[in-house]
Amino acid sequence: FDSLSTPIRVTLFPGDGIGPEIADSVKQVFRAAEVPIEWEEHYVGDQIDPRTQSFLTWESLESVRRNGVGLKGPMATPIGKGHRSLNLTLRKELNLYANVRPCNSLPGYKTRYDDVNLITIRENTEGEYSGLEHQVVRGVVESLKIITRQASLRVAEYAFHYAKTHGRERVSAIHKANIMRKTDGLFLKCCREVAEKYPEITYEEVVIDTCCMMLVKNPALFDVLVMPNLYGDIISDLCAGLIGGLGLTPSCNIGEGGICLAEAVHGSAPDIAGKNLANPTALLLSGVAMLQHLKLQDKAGRIQDAILNTIAEGKYRTVDLGGTSSTSDFTKAVCDHL
Ligand code: ATP
Ligand code: MG
Repeated sequence: FDSLSTPIRVTLFPGDGIGPEIADSVKQVFRAAEVPIEWEEHYVGDQIDPRTQSFLTWESLESVRRNGVGLKGPMATPIGKGHRSLNLTLRKELNLYANVRPCNSLPGYKTRYDDVNLITIRENTEGEYSGLEHQVVRGVVESLKIITRQASLRVAEYAFHYAKTHGRERVSAIHKANIMRKTDGLFLKCCREVAEKYPEITYEEVVIDTCCMMLVKNPALFDVLVMPNLYGDIISDLCAGLIGGLGLTPSCNIGEGGICLAEAVHGSAPDIAGKNLANPTALLLSGVAMLQHLKLQDKAGRIQDAILNTIAEGKYRTVDLGGTSSTSDFTKAVCDHL
């Protein structure tokens, strides 16, 4: 891509809470790095779109489908009846079946471990998130955990393919099949089937509670972890904690047909929204992951170095990292490091 070619169109959802502030930071840094993309900005509406049954419009979803690539800030789902959660709408409508969360120690930012280098891959469409909950009789409710062969094979296949193409050696399937015999049992069976096609990758199965203990004791025991939805939610926050918190961890949602919707792992952080306090690193690194997906390796590398160097230098750090910088001070420092 040279500067004369037409820019790549990318969908941007600034989102809610701290979303617009950290999305601004990404736009500034990308502009400073002269990234050849054009943002197609979409906001969450204030009315339910009957075509999506949510505050996200059909046009917003079409924008991601058309571009195949997007960056998303956190979205807080408004309370009330008759609509679906925004994140769930995106996952279901765009078939975002795998959530990939790299977790790497940041050089110069000291935590208990110096060399965390993990990838969690979370099944993103079913499990406890089926949305099927009801009251059986008064005082008794039921929630359905759905595991299908199709979704399990798909996410397992993604995990092994990821491991192979990223020079990783091991895939660990995380489960509780000793209790959830049928559901997690099927998930494991699918992982085993896929593992057989990848003899060069070591495959193991680890019970979730043991996994938590091992991660906290020595994160180097793991490489790529693949797991059902709810376990992925929990384990990836645990992993974020190993490297310094939610302000730092990026992710990518992978959908059918190669859609990539990058997003920060954290939520909308209403407690600090609008105060210029948020750490934009997680969304910036999600943007970097998006650029890697677009094969803009040069730009991705330059931006990533600028972010890491800014944090390592230690002069400009946001409050969550023990510093005193505002979102905009930190952003400016990253631009200066470019
Ligand atoms: P949601 O329901 O939207 O997931 P949540 O209640 O899970 O929200 P988060 O928004 O993920 O919470 O935030 C958890 C804590 O981490 C909050 O105290 C928040 O201020 C902090 N936090 C999250 N993201 C950031 C960030 N980018 N920079 C600084 N602090 C953050
Ligand atoms: Mg949360």
